[in-house]
Amino acid sequence: MKPFSGLPLSQAMLNNLETLKYINMTPVQEVSILPVLEGYDVLAQAKTGSGKTAAFGIGLLQNLKVSRFRVQSLVLCPTRELAEQVSEELRKIARFQHNIKILKITGGLPLYKQEHSLSHEAHIIVGTPGRVLKLLERGSLSLKELRTLVLDEADRMLDMGFIDPIREIISYAPAKRQTLCFSATFPEDVKKLSRSIQNNPVELAVDREH
Ligand code: ADP
Ligand code: MG
Repeated sequence: MKPFSGLPLSQAMLNNLETLKYINMTPVQEVSILPVLEGYDVLAQAKTGSGKTAAFGIGLLQNLKVSRFRVQSLVLCPTRELAEQVSEELRKIARFQHNIKILKITGGLPLYKQEHSLSHEAHIIVGTPGRVLKLLERGSLSLKELRTLVLDEADRMLDMGFIDPIREIISYAPAKRQTLCFSATFPEDVKKLSRSIQNNPVELAVDREH
């Protein structure tokens, strides 16, 4: 097991990870954090509960331009509950950095409230595909300055039939971007999606559930 302290992270990030009692990296974190930090596309498979949120979240947070109040990262999740978990985990990891704004955009909440929050801008959006697409179509969310797109639980999103909204969302994003694809399993449809939206990804399979 390798400690986080060996990574080229800011001292503030390292101190915060220590406060969270994140001392050693999980296997998926050990292989993903550096390529994410260096801007590569990553296609990673690791089972549920293996720390995938921090595996993409640490590099994503370190690469944010905090003084630039625009949506720079979008994390798509299959369900409201998972979006909630991911935004909470990202907030924990970002805790030392009070001015980072993370906004959750999921169905079930009034659109006007989300549009009001968006009018104040955010650095990171964590959301479900349907609602994110709706806000893009209404023009209340802009991805013009998006730098990193994350598909979290890609296998589940495809199982749930989100392929079309995902592709439409990507049509609003710059072609030159970092795309991270994290998944518990590696079925053919995930590989196919990866081939069509990622650029020469670093492929990491940490374990296999099936
Ligand atoms: P996954 O997305 O792979 O299912 P999560 O990112 O939700 O996993 O992480 C699972 C749990 O492990 C969370 O409660 C998280 O806070 C914790 N965790 C993640 N990384 C570490 C670490 N390096 N050390 C200790 N706990 C960790
Ligand atoms: Mg997860």
